[in-house]
Amino acid sequence: MAGLKLPKFKTMSIEQEVFTFSNPKFVYIPLISGNDMNLTVLTKKGEYVKKGEIIAKRKGNFRIPIHASVSGKVIDFVEKTYLTGEKVKCVVIENDFKEQMERQYEPKKLISTYTKEEFLALLQDNGVIGMGGAGFPTYVKYESKEKIHTLLVNAVECEPYITADHVVIQKYCEAILETIDAILEINGIDEAIIAIKKTNIELKEIFDRYIGTYLKVKIAFVPDIYPMGWERTLVRQVKHVEYRTLPIERGIVVNNISTIYAIYEALKYNKPVMERFVTFTGDGLKNPRNVLLKVGTSAFEVLEKLEIDAREYIVVAGGPMMGDAILDEELVITPNLNCVLVLKKGLEDIETTCLRCGKCVEVCPAKISPVMIRDHLKDPGYLSRLQPLKCVECGLCSYICPAKIRVRESVREAKKIVKERAKCKSLS
Ligand code: SF4
Ligand code: SF4
Repeated sequence: MAGLKLPKFKTMSIEQEVFTFSNPKFVYIPLISGNDMNLTVLTKKGEYVKKGEIIAKRKGNFRIPIHASVSGKVIDFVEKTYLTGEKVKCVVIENDFKEQMERQYEPKKLISTYTKEEFLALLQDNGVIGMGGAGFPTYVKYESKEKIHTLLVNAVECEPYITADHVVIQKYCEAILETIDAILEINGIDEAIIAIKKTNIELKEIFDRYIGTYLKVKIAFVPDIYPMGWERTLVRQVKHVEYRTLPIERGIVVNNISTIYAIYEALKYNKPVMERFVTFTGDGLKNPRNVLLKVGTSAFEVLEKLEIDAREYIVVAGGPMMGDAILDEELVITPNLNCVLVLKKGLEDIETTCLRCGKCVEVCPAKISPVMIRDHLKDPGYLSRLQPLKCVECGLCSYICPAKIRVRESVREAKKIVKERAKCKSLS
């Protein structure tokens, strides 16, 4: 199996107390859903919005709403940095600290009693998306006409530094199990499997404490290698099957553990996704820890509180493997951002010439040749034959490269070129 055992840096954040930063003076809510910035904006400058109010909606497919995470006045529309490093237009809300709610969230006694239609509507209306990074609308996975027989819950968190999911399990294990049970009941799913790393003894003990009464829920222990948390690798490891595009082809739905908790809040309280845990960590940070934050909070406001402890550093949105370097101080928190990493810069980061060692090819879980793709960036015709679209952006090729070449960035560039070429062909 392609994959690597990576050094661990999780204790850096997991051993520290969780920090709550729930009252920023301003929030900057990005007007983006998935990769789609083509949204209908439902508010304007000067308007008062309540917490939980829909301020924008995606057009076309996958209509996921975007909610205000605080109450207050809309004072502007500005560009901020999204987790991919792109600039995205944001609604700026000046927090009035009154937490005026758009509606009261009455707790539902038995969350397993919803009909499937009600379940789908609650997920969609509350903006539940994949919180492990992908940001894919969750209701779409359950909307399928295929019979779902397995819910595979991804609690692997295989990136080296990130512990946000770990904290969610520590805090909300009972709610997570109740939600998994409700999802099975509502959707007529046969079983749920929660995948955790076999080295993660603490999580095993937490689940052992509560899982007894949930007879259809099992734990699967998976090897501690990267990228075990990648959907395709996980499905192969746990269910021993392959699929072409999506796991639902084989009757499987995969949800990240933080997504399950967002589903809980949607089912229990009819509550939109307005906050999340984010791991702030790295050797460039004085006080690494997990932080509970409102969507739209400025990441740099949090970094100031946790104190950057390096003269030269880089900030990465996401983990060191799949994340993107952020080149300004404008990064904002979104529901699919799980980590902000601050790393000291060193001479060892300087890129040299390719040694033709082939290590990037050996580790690639998508079984493509990153080095050849990099070599052929200027030859779009040949590039598509090298199948860069199979790349899952796991970052292993860059990690392993002894010449410190950012191979993943080249493959990502190749993906754009191939997609653009396909678009042009279809239009001509
Ligand atoms: S080419 Fe893509 S899938 Fe392969 S190792 Fe590099 S980032 Fe991962
Ligand atoms: S791992 Fe780096 S040095 Fe080796 S072939 Fe790939 S790009 Fe070249």
